[in-house]
Amino acid sequence: MESKKFLLQEKDIPTAWYNVVADMPRKPRPLLNPVTKEPMKAEDLFPLFSEEVSRQEFNDTDRWIEIPDEVRDMYRIWRPTPLVRARGLEKALDTPAHIYFKNESVSPVGSHKLNSAIPQAYYCKKQGVTNITTETGAGQWGAALSLAARHFGLELAVYMVKVSYHQKPYRRSIMQTYGAEVIASPSMSTKAGRKIITENPHYQGSLGTAISEAVELAMATPNCKYTLGSVLNHVALHQTVIGLEAEKQMEMAGEYPDVVIGCFGGGSNFSGVTFPFMRHNLAGERSTRFIAAEPASCPKLTRGVLQYDFGDEAGYTPLIPMYTLGHNFAPANIHAGGLRYHGAGAVVSQLREDGFIEAVDIPQLETFAAATLFARSEGIIPAPESSHAIATAIREAQKAKEEGTSKVILFNLSGHGLIDMASYDSYIAGDLQNYEVTDEMVQANIASLDKII
Ligand SMILES: *Cc1c(COP(=O)(O)O)cnc(C)c1O
Repeated sequence: MESKKFLLQEKDIPTAWYNVVADMPRKPRPLLNPVTKEPMKAEDLFPLFSEEVSRQEFNDTDRWIEIPDEVRDMYRIWRPTPLVRARGLEKALDTPAHIYFKNESVSPVGSHKLNSAIPQAYYCKKQGVTNITTETGAGQWGAALSLAARHFGLELAVYMVKVSYHQKPYRRSIMQTYGAEVIASPSMSTKAGRKIITENPHYQGSLGTAISEAVELAMATPNCKYTLGSVLNHVALHQTVIGLEAEKQMEMAGEYPDVVIGCFGGGSNFSGVTFPFMRHNLAGERSTRFIAAEPASCPKLTRGVLQYDFGDEAGYTPLIPMYTLGHNFAPANIHAGGLRYHGAGAVVSQLREDGFIEAVDIPQLETFAAATLFARSEGIIPAPESSHAIATAIREAQKAKEEGTSKVILFNLSGHGLIDMASYDSYIAGDLQNYEVTDEMVQANIASLDKII
């Protein structure tokens, strides 16, 4: 019988992360201080982040960065993750393409986010930090960080967007089970929160507000650092364990991907699955295609501009050179909450500008149709975010069929959807819709950006 899964041993968990910046023909533009607009250095981030991730953020020379034993040890809870040949999906599509997926949904919190939560918590612990803060929207990042913080004995405060706090109670329960303090944002515990509540008592919160609260608490509390679950270079770096394992597993399968696909929010799982394969393109040895799959309601890579912009709505963070829809862009309330982010990370943005990355945007209904087909043919109910990658893989497989060519497709299954069943309920009931972003909406937001690039 032919193999369904390709499995590695614990000893095969990577010993170093891959830093793509070392191999880039053009390095990403620097982060800028939001006030002076001067390029920043690692030390400038020390007040906010752990020193080690601050250094990683600016490291553009070391191709390999060693994974600490304490981090690898915790990765062992669920890594290496399986690489799966999606034979059921291939059959359902009647395609000559070979489809593989890397199953990151098997982590204890059900997504890839734990790959970076662990090193971020570890580096804080190592430098003597006792408390950490973060924000979370739908709760995936907060859940991952809660487990990592508990493991390393750190106190964690998570600001969770108020509407999600009430509408997605199970991810809140997960965080609380691991022992984190979860605060509905806006809250009365920070200046930023009090100001908003005073002005608008019924405000249901946003990621931008939650970031402001988490940053304010970290800056005001001794021995406290802030952490972020996507967008920044060090987060993408930590996620490369996905692609490094997948590379070995594709070799076990005796194939090499023609196309690698990841869904795209801030870019961490996309970077994680693609960068290790991209290094062979950068070295001129391969010409693999890399496709970022974003929602049609939040299309920064397909319809945004490359410009310096803030990472948050409030404008507290450094200015990041990114494909962006403008930090004031308010995406429609789609169910793939993890993809509702206005910009892409600096490294991905540079690689896109230099032609190494393609991007597609997918309407919401197509993602749920793809998710349902995947659930029925492969057995796993995917996260609404991951369904964007599945829909893109299906488009590629159908193209292969039309062209009568064989093709090897790899996509990252970033998470499962078992805590997102309310969104499947809406789909089954016929209550979901597509959202169009008009050019006027995009232009209006982009027009407010400083023209630095
Ligand atoms: C957070 C999340 C995403 C989007 O974040 P990226 O940084 O773009 O990877 C995608 N899938 C799942 C399951 C998530 O939890």
